[in-house]
Amino acid sequence: MKLVLLGVSGAGKGTQAKNMIKRYNLGHISTGDILRKHIREGTAIGLNIQDGMDAGQLVDDTLMISIVKDVVTRVEFENGYILDGFPRTLAQAQTFDEFERIDLAIYVQVDDRIVIERLTGRWVCDCCTQMYHIKSFPPKVSGVCDYCGCTLIQREDDKAETVKDRLRIFHELTGPVISYYRELGVLFTVSGEGSADTITNTIIQKLDTLV
Ligand code: AMP
Repeated sequence: MKLVLLGVSGAGKGTQAKNMIKRYNLGHISTGDILRKHIREGTAIGLNIQDGMDAGQLVDDTLMISIVKDVVTRVEFENGYILDGFPRTLAQAQTFDEFERIDLAIYVQVDDRIVIERLTGRWVCDCCTQMYHIKSFPPKVSGVCDYCGCTLIQREDDKAETVKDRLRIFHELTGPVISYYRELGVLFTVSGEGSADTITNTIIQKLDTLV
């Protein structure tokens, strides 16, 4: 099963992806995680994209397409995958369509106000990428990851001033991707405002009709 997960950052895509990969034995491809790894490791790509990413801007389509093209053909994704964070522009979606056929695009829809509250309270482990939230999911010890003991950081692009720009970019550039998949008849929209379990169950009901 080849799935695309759409939604603004903070919609809860990561949590849903984790639940889906367990149930359907799929690989998880997060383009944001791939790019952050480049930045952490100081690769040429990382150095090139860091400032733009910190400012909440999108990375160039050509680079994103080449990254995704390389990843989806890996043997570990033979059984299928959830692509989380791609495509984010119509050009990415159309080019992706030329080399992969997805089974479903799942759009996790959340009101902008809720996204702002979620993102600006979000902290992430610098080592294992586990997410926390100061109100809804705090770590046991402030500033420390429950799982690996590493320091928690606030992503530059989760800072309040950047979040509004990311929302604007999402509506302007990723909105057309949602319309594109709707027209292709492969879009499934789920509200991302309920509990994580409720959202997972709604998605599972749909995916079970595909397997
Ligand atoms: P995410 O973790 O999915 O919120 O992605 C974090 C950042 O990575 C985004 O704000 C973009 O700067 C960059 N990024 C991730 N995926 C893409 C993509 N498909 N196209 C362009 N930029 C991306």
